[in-house]
Amino acid sequence: MSTTTITSTQLQPKPIPALYTVYILRSQPRHASLYIGSTPNPPRRLSQHNGLSKGGAYRTSKKSLRPWEMVTLVSGFPSMIAALKFEWALNNPHKSLHIPADKRAEAIKGLGRRKTGHLKRPRKSLNGVMEALRMLLGVKSFGRMGLRVHFFEEEVWRVWERQGGKMTGRTSKLGVEVVTDFRGASSMSKTMTAAQQAGPAEPNSEVDDDEAREKDDGDGEGEDAQEKYKKKYGIYALPLDYTPIKEYVGKGQEIFEFERQGKCVVCREAMVTGRGLYAVCSNTGCEAVGHLDCWSRCFLKQEVKRAGTAQGDEILPVKGECPTCHGEVVWGDMMKELTLRTRGQAEVDKLLKKKRRRAAAKPKAKEKGKGKAADEKGNNAEKKDAKGNQKVKPASQTIVEDSASEDSEFLDIALL
Ligand SMILES: [Zn+2]
Ligand SMILES: [Zn+2]
Repeated sequence: MSTTTITSTQLQPKPIPALYTVYILRSQPRHASLYIGSTPNPPRRLSQHNGLSKGGAYRTSKKSLRPWEMVTLVSGFPSMIAALKFEWALNNPHKSLHIPADKRAEAIKGLGRRKTGHLKRPRKSLNGVMEALRMLLGVKSFGRMGLRVHFFEEEVWRVWERQGGKMTGRTSKLGVEVVTDFRGASSMSKTMTAAQQAGPAEPNSEVDDDEAREKDDGDGEGEDAQEKYKKKYGIYALPLDYTPIKEYVGKGQEIFEFERQGKCVVCREAMVTGRGLYAVCSNTGCEAVGHLDCWSRCFLKQEVKRAGTAQGDEILPVKGECPTCHGEVVWGDMMKELTLRTRGQAEVDKLLKKKRRRAAAKPKAKEKGKGKAADEKGNNAEKKDAKGNQKVKPASQTIVEDSASEDSEFLDIALL
């Protein structure tokens, strides 16, 4: 077992996940009990914590604390690793290097010191967690990820808002989007209580947090229960797959399949297939394509202009205006499409096949021959179907050949 093997396994390039969240759980019978975790699938994870399906964490297995509810969550992480870092920092604000040392003590309530002078881990209080959340969203490493904070319980949101009013400077103007959905939370609570009474499953007390997290990556059990209680509100309204960017992904596939990418929208140089990472504008109908670093440079310049400050040391923008259609492009969205195209052929096939099947089911199928070919012959059918034109290499192969290039390194930075 050489180090190289381990490293290459760990660095297996993956597309940006459709959804990855860091959530705050609150015990319904005892509001003072809080728990912080992360998951790509909040409804499934909640059902695990509540003992409705296997794999819950030991700390949430006490029957007297169940049911738990997800009161808040943060979405938009560019990778599982980024979410895990955030989860850890939120659990350990007294240690987190993301929060400046001099601010850790003053910023987080109830942060005492040990005799050694080290900061004590604070007892989790709603106030403390909300303050730590604000601090983390205000630091550059997380603040530039384009994260979104969701509140499902009005009382919790009020604590967050109250603190916001008190804060000054950078942290009072967070670069994050805040979404509230309170109606959902109350209905959800009812649902979970009913489910709890129906007979909770026995928690697996041997499972620790990390193991539980790993399990959570697979297909969870209790899908029936999830289906049963799935409603289109609160955590149940979050998109768990790539459906919201299906049209965008389809556009990206077409552009490169038929080599329509043309010249870079920023530097005007021709973009040769397979010679680098090219990102596509996310706006409907716009086919602007550019070098990854050209888009980045262009958006960062705009940011500097907007802020009226000197050029910072940022290498990744949050968002910008497309030079062609002048519509807004969120960097995270663009990276999602790019990583799906270059690292997620399986996910792309799954996403676009769904569309084709649905289209075929309708009397007027829009994508006649293409749809049929893909359904019959599987993944590569579309490549062969290119009407005798030059065969296009699947994007995933391109990236393997290109993995040592500067662009690929740039993308890896983008994902951390
Ligand atoms: Zn360029
Ligand atoms: Zn555009």
